[in-house]
Amino acid sequence: MLRLSNLSSLDHNSKISCTAENIVGGKESSLLLDILFPPKITKLSEAIPDHHWCIPFSVSGNPEPELQWFLDDEVVTEGLYIMTMIHDITEREYHGCLQLDSPTHFNNGRYRLVAKNEFGMDQREVEAHFMHKPIEGLCLHFVIVQVYVVVGIAAVAFTGFLLMLIILKFGGNSKFGIKGPSSVISNDDDSASPLHHVSNGSNTPSSSEMGPDAVIIGMTKIPVIENPQYFRSTNSLLKTDTFVQHIKRHNIVLKRELGEGAFGKVFLAECYNLSPDQEKILVAVKTLKEASENARKDFHREAELLTNLQHEHIVTFYGVCVESDPLIMVFEYMKHGDLNKFLRAHGPDAVLMAEGQTTRPVELTQSQMLHIAQQIASGMVYLASQHFVHRDLATRNCLVGENLLVKIGDFGMSRDVYSTDYYRVGGHTMLPIRWMPPESIMYRKFTTESDVWSLGVVLWEIFTYGKQPWYQLSNNEVIECITQGRVLQRPRTCPKEVYDLMLGCWQREPHMRLNIKEIHGLLLNLAKASPVYLDILG
Ligand code: ADP
Repeated sequence: MLRLSNLSSLDHNSKISCTAENIVGGKESSLLLDILFPPKITKLSEAIPDHHWCIPFSVSGNPEPELQWFLDDEVVTEGLYIMTMIHDITEREYHGCLQLDSPTHFNNGRYRLVAKNEFGMDQREVEAHFMHKPIEGLCLHFVIVQVYVVVGIAAVAFTGFLLMLIILKFGGNSKFGIKGPSSVISNDDDSASPLHHVSNGSNTPSSSEMGPDAVIIGMTKIPVIENPQYFRSTNSLLKTDTFVQHIKRHNIVLKRELGEGAFGKVFLAECYNLSPDQEKILVAVKTLKEASENARKDFHREAELLTNLQHEHIVTFYGVCVESDPLIMVFEYMKHGDLNKFLRAHGPDAVLMAEGQTTRPVELTQSQMLHIAQQIASGMVYLASQHFVHRDLATRNCLVGENLLVKIGDFGMSRDVYSTDYYRVGGHTMLPIRWMPPESIMYRKFTTESDVWSLGVVLWEIFTYGKQPWYQLSNNEVIECITQGRVLQRPRTCPKEVYDLMLGCWQREPHMRLNIKEIHGLLLNLAKASPVYLDILG
């Protein structure tokens, strides 16, 4: 037996040979030393930008060490956008990268690599900085605003106090006995304190005091912009010569309430003399409850826009009725209502209570789901051809008619009934963050490509029978998740081809996403491959 001692990892893989010789001849045999030793991180360097970002490292150890990354002491969950890659192995030394795909400021921080095997562990840290926060020094900005507000209040209070003193002194001595201002004071005891007067509003800085155009999510300042669809003068859909059809009030007979929209109730109605071949047809009328000057302007703009949007998978807009309040928009009636409710009603959890008995409605089949998806994609191809960016594509904004006919039916933002689908920012702006890609969340960039992302989420909604995307997460967690590059998981009933399509919609880089026409083509082919049996919905 050859006994070896004081060996180190450096001796790993060394060749030990044994030769035996006598007068007749010789024989040699050899082996490589397999030395077990604890991990050692021999290199951990600063991040380098390449095709992807890379934090390079080298680790030795035998057996192969397990690697775990921490960012500011929190475990880094590896996935599509962050992963450990080993490029080279030499003598039990592993050389690789922590590879980051398009990291943002969320990825900045102190990266700690921990390498472990059964003989021990080693760890090392490195700082990495990929991107500045969209607005640095926001905290400072916030504090300054607070200081301004407090100083402002104090200044106004002081001026008010001085003014009152002057009024008391001179007003009270008026030879005509003018009661004016002094009576204001005596009539309202509460207002005796000038501070009360000026603080009559809000003395805490609201988001509007920070500028109406910004909102803070975590430490990120996100600009809030009005829906440019309405304000872009170059928008081909807002032509100056658009003829919006006006319908007489006496031609509309309300039948029952269908739902509550963001701006007022929606009713089922009969509309007379709308088409030459039918005396009356069923329509859905949307009412505008509060018609301020601005709301009226938006109403007319939306009516023009809707008049110019005409496609078999966009809900038909018949016209307006503005003879008196409330203002009314008239649409074609879609019998099965909004797609989200429809999906839930035809999913595994749906239970219909009919005449005291619990009966299960028919569940949607995969081919019906594909048929639904294909129609929405078709509507989106049309919108993209009109350079119209929807910004709020979701199943709640699609409508279902007879024979599983699906149309995109809502172009406004925000809905009360689905308020948890939106993230309220800057007072009244609501954002459908669960349907938004990273660039829309971080930079408020809305494009046809961001609509494609939302279409991917719509596919996910369809194949989960109307589940809320990231239902298990809070809004802040969703923002964190999406900006970190996580994507929704494959729904249980979703074929691989369809999930691949979703992944194609959720490429982080907008230009890498599938084109809307491609998506429509793929869905059409998949839908054709499995024909739909429409009658099962009854
Ligand atoms: P808003 O655009 O003001 O938020 P919605 O379009 O969301 O209003 O309408 C609210 C509800 O009214 C929908 O969830 C749907 O159930 C019903 N609804 C709206 N439009 C139609 C329609 N054309 N046909 C049938 N039901 C409709």
